[in-house]
Amino acid sequence: MPFSDTLLKNIPKITPKYLKILEKLGLFTVQDFLFYLPFRYDDFSQTVALSNEYLNSVVTISAVVTKTKLNRIFRRRMTIAEVYLKDENQTALKAAWFNQPFILESMPIGTQVRLSGKLELKGKYFTLTNPAWERASREKTNTGQLVPVYSETPGITSKWIRWQMKTFLEKNSHLEDYVPEDLRKKLHLYSLISALRQIHFPENQEKLLIAQKTFAFREMFLMQLKTLQMKNIWEAQSAISLPFDESLIKNFTEKLPFKLTGAQKKASFEILKDLEKSAPMNRLLNGDVGAGKTVVAAISALSALSQNQQVAILAPTEVLALQHFQSFSKLFENYDFNIALLTSSYKLINSCHSERSIFEERKNTQSKNLPTVIHMLSDKSLTSRLSTADPCLPAGRLRTTSPAGGFAQDDKKKITRISLLESIKSGGVSLIIGTHAIIQKDVAFRNLALVVIDEQHRFGVAQRSVLQQETMELKDGEKKTIPHLLTMTATPIPRTLAIAFFGSLDLSILDEMPKNRKPIKTRIVLPAQRDQVYAFMRREIDADRQVFVILPFVEESKVLTEVKAAAEEHKKLSLVFPEYSLGLLHGRLKSKEKETVMQDFKDRKNQILVSTSVVEVGIDIPNATIMLIENSDRFGLSQLHQFRGRVGRGEHQSYCFLFTDSTTQTSLERLRALEKSNDGFALSEIDLKLRGPGQLLGKAQSGLSDIAMENLNNLKLIKIARAEAQNILKTDSKLKKHPLLAKALEKFAKDVHLE
Ligand code: ADP
Ligand code: MG
Repeated sequence: MPFSDTLLKNIPKITPKYLKILEKLGLFTVQDFLFYLPFRYDDFSQTVALSNEYLNSVVTISAVVTKTKLNRIFRRRMTIAEVYLKDENQTALKAAWFNQPFILESMPIGTQVRLSGKLELKGKYFTLTNPAWERASREKTNTGQLVPVYSETPGITSKWIRWQMKTFLEKNSHLEDYVPEDLRKKLHLYSLISALRQIHFPENQEKLLIAQKTFAFREMFLMQLKTLQMKNIWEAQSAISLPFDESLIKNFTEKLPFKLTGAQKKASFEILKDLEKSAPMNRLLNGDVGAGKTVVAAISALSALSQNQQVAILAPTEVLALQHFQSFSKLFENYDFNIALLTSSYKLINSCHSERSIFEERKNTQSKNLPTVIHMLSDKSLTSRLSTADPCLPAGRLRTTSPAGGFAQDDKKKITRISLLESIKSGGVSLIIGTHAIIQKDVAFRNLALVVIDEQHRFGVAQRSVLQQETMELKDGEKKTIPHLLTMTATPIPRTLAIAFFGSLDLSILDEMPKNRKPIKTRIVLPAQRDQVYAFMRREIDADRQVFVILPFVEESKVLTEVKAAAEEHKKLSLVFPEYSLGLLHGRLKSKEKETVMQDFKDRKNQILVSTSVVEVGIDIPNATIMLIENSDRFGLSQLHQFRGRVGRGEHQSYCFLFTDSTTQTSLERLRALEKSNDGFALSEIDLKLRGPGQLLGKAQSGLSDIAMENLNNLKLIKIARAEAQNILKTDSKLKKHPLLAKALEKFAKDVHLE
């Protein structure tokens, strides 16, 4: 067994106390430990003789101890260890350490040492306060060079990690390296062991940079290999070719109540062109909130539906699935196919097919609500809500499906999951909208030609990585084709990031907003202006508008605190606005309860909705005109922009208020970007620069290392990695000739999630 695989618990020098901390950091083997990389470096590389010219600079001094003294300050329960030294020119130096009396024991008079720190002049002495130090006889580890600083956990110091690291690096003369040697040479990268040595103990800045580049490349390379392999596998499948029927599409778009934007047209065209091919499409529609992705999805769907093929649309939550069901029912109200909603709590069918006459009738009515005729009955509350909410929907018109896929006039019989599945299997419904539930194993389609995944970001990581796989497994029995796949983002992703992370997908970008939008007015609000904003809220609510109030805390482990904060805010605001009714939404509610809260808000039962960050991103409440965000400095710009996108969806002027107590210039500067810009792409670029890709992708989710994350916007490196990956796969598609690479890739695929 190579030394690097040794378990840390079998290393005698690592006592149980340390072991416990290391294991908490996820470090179990020597190899794990070696990959615990510094998060910054102290530059102690300048070794100098004492001189005024170095005052206030960080330097390293070689000197010999001439006198030591321990001062106790009882009043403050403090000790100061003082060491007097002389450098080679006999210039005097004083070093002082607070509360480290033991230092004196290791530095008896006559000891040669190196000390690193900021040089100051105090009284007549050159002085170093709390400097890093080591004996001159030791190899340079803590002084005299670029010194690594590790993120410290209680119980473990950087100094301890350094000594341990040094020992391990000395014992490992060789480490398996999956990057082929010729490639390393060509790109001027280090071998793994050299890269590790230089990243922990860089000889100089230049070598450190090469080491960092080596690490970034290693992961980027695996990432590109993985996405290219996925792409190759995907493209080797066949799909149903769907002819581009121009008059059909034209007819559809002409009847829309608005004109498509240029970006919508371009994206639709790219998709329709893809659908014509007999290789499956795999395309990402990358667009801002409100850019109009739904219509593009509808145009794509139409191309399949008109060929009597089925289409599935997946939304991350039940609320969004329901909303899509409503929008698509409306968009397709003049067409001849049945639309189903299938989630764990909803089983609905909207039949256009067999209810022509009713549709004609409906066209003369004014209802803005569900244009549906046939609803499910398994969820009583929803049924009653729908039937009362929709004036065109007398109770007697409630219908259910019968198992054969035809429709029975029996409103007592429920649409069960089973009967709905039957209709899907028989082709009785063509457009199936739902949550992830619709591509589970027991759901069989008759001829599924297109899958649309909306807001793919919001599917959990585990779900996301299996979604494509599952789509690929949805082969229809005879023809062995797989559906075309269109994924849509909930938020714009900067182009470089999309290329790096979603390299297996083709990209269409909606970077143009519909013209009729009134830009949302955005203002930073300091604590003193709170009452003014509340007064403004009152005026808006009295004019029948509604308000969102969002409270931060995003980390999952903090669900409880978040919930508590929201509940408290709800209570507080209920006192501020006793005349209004306030809703409360948070992550602890069951999905059904969340939906009731959202629906109540949509039905204007509440004027103010207090919510944690769980508030559904895609939900449409056109009557809400104010978005108020507490502690807004705690969110990323993209996320704030998403919240803001909840308002401004109707005809009224909308407002976004960014509350903050923060007075730091940087965070105000950051928030100001939101005041100035309504462009989601521009904001996500700023986020990328200021906070790194982790902010946009969720670092914990991606599983990438910090170095790789930082380099995700390094387009040059990504391109090189991609070209080299392509090169290798060209001659060795299964990596049979590169076993180390194959092994590394397998591990990488387990740890890291790509689309
Ligand atoms: P998102 O991209 O966030 O999913 P939607 O598809 O929900 O956005 O569209 C937001 C709103 O904009 C919808 O009410 C939709 O009808 C409307 N819309 C879409 N395209 C246009 C357009 N070209 N002109 C005007 N309004 C549009
Ligand atoms: Mg949407």
